Amino acid sequence: MAGREETGNLRDEGRARPLRIGITPVENFLNSFIDYNKTIMTAIINKDACTGCETCVSECPAEAITMKNEKAEVITELCVDCGSCVDVCPAEAITME
Ligand code: SF4
Ligand code: SF4
Repeated sequence: MAGREETGNLRDEGRARPLRIGITPVENFLNSFIDYNKTIMTAIINKDACTGCETCVSECPAEAITMKNEKAEVITELCVDCGSCVDVCPAEAITME
């Protein structure tokens, strides 16, 4: 938040312009990393095999799994490809693809 405020103040004084409005350099870097990460792998859930136990939901460090109609669903934009959900799923319903 401090970065945004500082950028806004500088812009107001006419001394500097942000590279992308509302995005700090750190956010820019993280977004690039997330975009790059998306090209590697993400968790995929076989809904036919999912029993709805919710173990993966509580295990996911990125809060990238939600329940929908009693089946787990991955929010791919949040998945950081750690594979933790694959290891804990008792139904072996999750793969990394
Ligand atoms: S751990 Fe496996 S069976 Fe349980 S909700 Fe997640 S995907 Fe479904
Ligand atoms: S791979 Fe990791 S981040 Fe992605 S859904 Fe599974 S536990 Fe969450």
